[in-house]
Amino acid sequence: MNSLNTRREVIVLGAGMVGVSCALALQAKGWRVTLIDKRGPGEETSFGNAGVLSRSSLLPFNRPGLWRALPHMLLKSSPALQLRASALMQWPWLFQFLWHAKASSFEVSTVALDALIQLSMATHSTWIHQAQVENLLHDKGWLWLYSNPEAFASSAVTRGILQEFSVNMEVLTPQSLTDLEPHIAPKFSHAVWIKDAMSVSNPGALVKAYAQQFIRAGGEFQMNAVLGITQQSEGWQCHTASGHVHDTPNLVVAMGPWSDALLAASHLPQPKRVPLGFERGYHRHFKPVEGIKLGRPVYDTSGAYVLSPMQNDRGETMMRLSTGVELAAQHAAFNAQQLEDAEIAVRKVFPLKESIAGSDWLGARPTTPDSRPVIGEVPGFLGLWLAYGHQHIGFSTGSGTGVLLSELMSCEPTSIDPRPFSPARF
Ligand SMILES: Cc1cc2nc3c(=O)[nH]c(=O)nc-3n(C[C@H](O)[C@H](O)[C@H](O)COP(=O)(O)OP(=O)(O)OC[C@H]3O[C@@H](n4cnc5c(N)ncnc54)[C@H](O)[C@@H]3O)c2cc1C
Repeated sequence: MNSLNTRREVIVLGAGMVGVSCALALQAKGWRVTLIDKRGPGEETSFGNAGVLSRSSLLPFNRPGLWRALPHMLLKSSPALQLRASALMQWPWLFQFLWHAKASSFEVSTVALDALIQLSMATHSTWIHQAQVENLLHDKGWLWLYSNPEAFASSAVTRGILQEFSVNMEVLTPQSLTDLEPHIAPKFSHAVWIKDAMSVSNPGALVKAYAQQFIRAGGEFQMNAVLGITQQSEGWQCHTASGHVHDTPNLVVAMGPWSDALLAASHLPQPKRVPLGFERGYHRHFKPVEGIKLGRPVYDTSGAYVLSPMQNDRGETMMRLSTGVELAAQHAAFNAQQLEDAEIAVRKVFPLKESIAGSDWLGARPTTPDSRPVIGEVPGFLGLWLAYGHQHIGFSTGSGTGVLLSELMSCEPTSIDPRPFSPARF
């Protein structure tokens, strides 16, 4: 333990699922925590996701076979992956991301992500109970749909890996799929029911409930945009848009897709930056058709969309359609094409009423080259801790990240192996 973390005082930047989880876990270990965000808790990426918490999410997008599939995906304009010219400006990240689509990286990442997912699911189950929002959590798994036997056969490798990791799942015939979800059109030759999965019916509300729990237990939340950080002889200073300068021995950067921009703007000496890419994704909400229900989120593998049954803040049922990956610069213009294509595809599969005006949303999954988040202290920068880069699974793995980070910062034995997540690997 060094002189900074003996003081057990920290500012956490970013109140998405990851930042709020870090704040909660550190608070539980007796740290005095201030949480800062430019908006309310859970109003950005942690608001807009598909709400799936699943053990099956241990396979990153950059996996062996991506190189082979890439020309087809790009030439056929696959709904799973759209590449925009602005993504090429991030070529150092893109190059490293593709370079990691190989067996050696994949093996390390799947083992590491599986451990983080399992820790996270157990942590969510406890925290949801403590925050008294059990009504948001649904324990019915999720479904992957395959339109023909060839598509199902091509998922054999993925299913084999999930079996190796003992993920509980069942292959469904068209009849057993209809028995489970009677309103899904009988268009699918196969489905896989991932039973080791939960879903959250209002992701933003869950983050807010965790943040309320943190505040009730004495934590401080400040709404303020952070412009930069500077290193002091003892700790860190954090500069905000309101002109306030906060001094702190320890700082956690958990600003999701904005994390790297903050470090870049802060001009740290000998900057140790983690290349960060943006796997952007969209969502659109639909009114449900009366009497038509979906019991769990579904992933249509040919349309590459997820349809999740959800509730708005008034508790009214709605359906959230979310899209595959658009590789583009973080702030590139909104391009509704992927969303329109997903809507055409989903309407052939599930009855929906009109879309809800103003519901279209765009977010960016923050992704490191090896698809593993960075969780730990920056080498050579005492008291500067990172917790970002959670790609497709940050809503689920935020909680485990908080637990792991709090153990590292408190110099305790860790629940899972921290080395695959260390910022030192870059
Ligand atoms: C379409 C889509 C579907 C997804 N589906 C799933 C899913 O089903 N399951 C899953 O686990 N994950 C899913 N994800 C991924 C998941 O949403 C992200 O990995 C996760 O939300 C990242 O959380 P975060 O806390 O790191 O970032 P965020 O939630 O984005 O939080 C970052 C915070 O930093 C704040 N911030 C930014 N700049 C500043 C500043 N200058 N000063 C102060 N604060 C600042 C923001 O306001 C924000 O609150 C999905 C993502 C997308 C895009």
